[in-house]
Amino acid sequence: MNLEAAVAPGFVEKAPLERYVDPDRPSLVGLSRAELAAALGEVGVPPAQRKMRVQQLWHWLYVRGSTTFEAMTSVSKELRAALENRFTVARPEVVAEQVSADGTRKWLLRLPGENERPHEVECVYIPETGRGTLCVSSQVGCTLNCTFCHTGTQRLVRNLTAGEIVGQIMVARDRLGDWPGQRPPDAAVVPTDGGRLVTNIVMMGMGEPLYNFEAVRDALLVVADNEGIAISRRKITVSTSGVVPNIKRTGDEIGVMLAVSLHAVRDDLRDELVPLNRKYPIEMLLDACRNYPGLTNARRITFEYVMLKGINDSLADAKALVRLLAGIPAKINLIPFNPWPGTRYECSDWETIEKFSEVVFNAGYSAPVRTPRGRDILAACGQLKSATEKLSARERMALRAMAMTE
Ligand code: SAH
Ligand code: SF4
Repeated sequence: MNLEAAVAPGFVEKAPLERYVDPDRPSLVGLSRAELAAALGEVGVPPAQRKMRVQQLWHWLYVRGSTTFEAMTSVSKELRAALENRFTVARPEVVAEQVSADGTRKWLLRLPGENERPHEVECVYIPETGRGTLCVSSQVGCTLNCTFCHTGTQRLVRNLTAGEIVGQIMVARDRLGDWPGQRPPDAAVVPTDGGRLVTNIVMMGMGEPLYNFEAVRDALLVVADNEGIAISRRKITVSTSGVVPNIKRTGDEIGVMLAVSLHAVRDDLRDELVPLNRKYPIEMLLDACRNYPGLTNARRITFEYVMLKGINDSLADAKALVRLLAGIPAKINLIPFNPWPGTRYECSDWETIEKFSEVVFNAGYSAPVRTPRGRDILAACGQLKSATEKLSARERMALRAMAMTE
């Protein structure tokens, strides 16, 4: 895939050409109960015992966060050895960890790939008072090509497995000391309410989650499971650029909160910013939103709107936005654009964002401006690109300055 092809008119999506290659000993992390039972069968556990053994493994993996079979002391020594022979409980490999001045943490994770080029994704932890949100990736790169998004410029694309998606949450909790009996590594982590550090999940890292639907679904069902990691479906959000056919399925089969990356109120502009709009235009997208299973005033859809200077930030746009969303239980998230090296866009002025948000607020929506966090490590959602770009000193300073002023 060359970049010219990627920006050619009419171009909507790339194929995920890269493949996942199973390691010699696969990890049990991320398997469903049925898959775990099958894995136990492979090492000779008789059918009558499998359910009980699955319960044990589930508890050690997802409640206790065990990183070795050896630690699973309620499992017989023989079975532990048999499992060790055939499987691991490995998480994705952490190749870099960065801690931002505001406590945001970013991990660069390396995943197995079929050639020498490493498959890498990023995962970001954002601590706030009373909650800690983990921004999780669903693909290496992204099949789509939104013009304002850094991830979209990446050419290497593959879908993550369910295990690699659950694995990101495991890695974050490992690194944060967020398992029973552990302590956070240092004072840079802002503790939430004394309880768990990872309380919320947003599928807003690299990739389009609804173009990797089955793996995302299977992973989130593990994450939401009451007897394991147990993050409630209401604290899990899937963000989509508008893959209409999988919106209903998200409600029906996963039952999590939905966020929609709208970013424009007219098809001509949205066609350009979010090329997927050529396939699923605004009206079709909003119809799917209106019919989102489980949608109520207490469970609203979040509409994301990135503020691009002189592109989509006029007061007329703000008014059209509230008209467009009339009748849909909605929240509106205005996201200051995070510039990246080589982008043609700029972030709207602060004053413009405030005026825009006033229109939205006066129409009855709470319009929090999502403060860009971790800008000094390029970790803000939508800015994830694994191949670390070399920033010039000037660019780096500009990014820091922006983080300071907001
Ligand atoms: N692919 C999904 C989820 C990942 S992107 C989606 O598009 O919804 C998460 C959010 O970050 C999206 O709303 C996306 O539009 C936004 N985003 C992407 N690049 C951005 C940038 N440079 N600045 C601010 N937000 C950005
Ligand atoms: Fe992909 Fe979302 Fe970026 Fe668009 S905004 S390129 S869908 S990650």
